[in-house]
Amino acid sequence: MNCINFVVPMNPCPCGYYPDRNRCRCTQTQVKKYLSRVSGPILDRMDLCVELQPVDVVSFGGKRGEKSAAIRERVLGARERQMWRFAGTAYRFNADIDPADIERYCELGKRERACMEGLCRSLQLSARACHRVLKVARTVADLAGKERIEEEHLMEAAFYRPAQEYWI
Ligand SMILES: [Zn+2]
Repeated sequence: MNCINFVVPMNPCPCGYYPDRNRCRCTQTQVKKYLSRVSGPILDRMDLCVELQPVDVVSFGGKRGEKSAAIRERVLGARERQMWRFAGTAYRFNADIDPADIERYCELGKRERACMEGLCRSLQLSARACHRVLKVARTVADLAGKERIEEEHLMEAAFYRPAQEYWI
């Protein structure tokens, strides 16, 4: 199994300003046509979809947010957890987990299972998208240093799906 990391930046419309209707002059049809270039099945294969807002220049250099050294520590910790989890298997990262092994590695408690079912229903996730959410939730839990996937990890993972107002 191959884990390929790639980042795909994409504008929301040909001019790049949608949904800011003060600046975007694209018609709804143009926006739809533009976004339809990325099909649902392709989107389903993306682990993380994050919508970025324009950055206020003034906010640069502020002291908010987590320091990168601390983030690095958390990432290293999460990688180590995965190393232990997958020792002796062909897997290296949570993203590698095959659908058949999802239940084993992304085990959910009763409450979490109900939460996941609710998310899949309300977000109308395909089976593949549900698996992605579970794998991302496993990583969110690893980053939080948690042994078990909790509801907040599932919610955060579901948040990294494509914005519905754009694609559905
Ligand atoms: Zn536009």
